[in-house]
Amino acid sequence: MSAQKADRRLRGQPARPRTPAAALPGGKGEISKPSCGSWFCASWCCGSGEMKLHCEVEVVSRHLPALGLRNRGKGVRAVLTLCQQTPKSQPRPQAGGERGGPHPAYLLISTLKDKRGTRYELKENIDQFFTKFVDEGKATVRLKEPPVDICLSKANSSSLKGFLSAVKLAYRGCDIDAPLSNPIPVKTSEFEKFKTKMVITSKKDYPLSKNFPHSLEHLQTSYCGLVRVDLRMLCLKNLRKLDLSHNHIKKLPATIGDLIHLQELNLSDNHLESFSVALCQSTLKKSLRSLDLSKNKIKALPVQFCQLRELTDLKLDDNELIRFPFKIGQLTNLRFLSAARNKLPFLPSEFKNLFLEYLDLFGNTFEQPKVLPVIMLQTPLTLLESSARTILYNRIPYGSNIIPFHLCQDLDTAKTCVCGRYCLSCFIQGTTTMNLHSVAHTVVLVDNMGGTEAPVLSYFCSLGCYINSCDTLK
Ligand SMILES: [Zn+2]
Repeated sequence: MSAQKADRRLRGQPARPRTPAAALPGGKGEISKPSCGSWFCASWCCGSGEMKLHCEVEVVSRHLPALGLRNRGKGVRAVLTLCQQTPKSQPRPQAGGERGGPHPAYLLISTLKDKRGTRYELKENIDQFFTKFVDEGKATVRLKEPPVDICLSKANSSSLKGFLSAVKLAYRGCDIDAPLSNPIPVKTSEFEKFKTKMVITSKKDYPLSKNFPHSLEHLQTSYCGLVRVDLRMLCLKNLRKLDLSHNHIKKLPATIGDLIHLQELNLSDNHLESFSVALCQSTLKKSLRSLDLSKNKIKALPVQFCQLRELTDLKLDDNELIRFPFKIGQLTNLRFLSAARNKLPFLPSEFKNLFLEYLDLFGNTFEQPKVLPVIMLQTPLTLLESSARTILYNRIPYGSNIIPFHLCQDLDTAKTCVCGRYCLSCFIQGTTTMNLHSVAHTVVLVDNMGGTEAPVLSYFCSLGCYINSCDTLK
């Protein structure tokens, strides 16, 4: 019989039925049965009824360091299958020694190069599980024989957890409450599930019944008429680039912040009215480098926006911005900033701290600097002002668990004087102009008159600070 015919025959075999009662371990140990009633609900390979896991795998021999060699440190795309030798199927050459009972489950690792796969015994053959990063889709299974570490990465975390639970059962020699697969060579199409890029630019191509491949790193869904972010996208933990431009999205879910690797987010040409504080304080703080919010209806960004410190590119063109977050100077990595065609009357004084390569503020409604300053000084300072200045100047930590929430908000939005100290509600407010070339290498003209100057709003904590800076004020 040809190999092809044999495969077809094996595929035709029904999976062995199992009795759930016999499958459960005696209620002890670290594996607990999920509430859904199935041990493997998370790991079912969509519709096929097989115990499979798609991920990247690197099998590292523990002999390598002794031989002075190092592993590649990079996994290959693989399909892991929990198999059980049925009496009819023929045994395959195996990497581990035969142990345990007559038909114990074993692990089959198939790659594009080795579709028939390499099998590893599991029963009493696992030395250790490393699951610290299981939520990031990573885990390592250390086998006794052969002495290898099976390093798994880029897996769907819930599938990985379910799969590892089953592997633990197989290790203990417990019967598994799932129809295990026969050792069938994995089809090439299975590896297509590792798609890392998907671009959809019309409504008719948008997947309604099928899920997005969990391995996606780059997803674009433009011109799809989306009114909200599809929650299925938020399960794509490997996503680095998400392009939702040209849709009708009004609000962003805070869970976008759970995409821990997200570096580029394009939301241009939507109906957004805000960018939430929760998003500013999410893991995007550490990952997000490029953000495109152009062509929306945003009036202001929260002060916490300046916590997105990794941002290098920020596009805010064609919104309704009436101000920049005044701590914008904290975006020290920012290199490209465009906020053309907004309603900015002034720039915040911290704008001077930016260090840009490109700046476009064309078509804003910049006002002429005011001749007279706004004086809000009080002598002596109020107790609130005095204590707020002390807390901020000495960087004393505060939070809503210690002081009322509204005081935290006041402290968060305190103004910075040119001297570097802070003021809450006692200050002098003055306006000056700055040449934008002092913060950016390339500057797009701010108006049709050929100007590159813009008005800046400055705050002074005392009369002394104001007088010292008076020369620069108009
Ligand atoms: Zn001052």
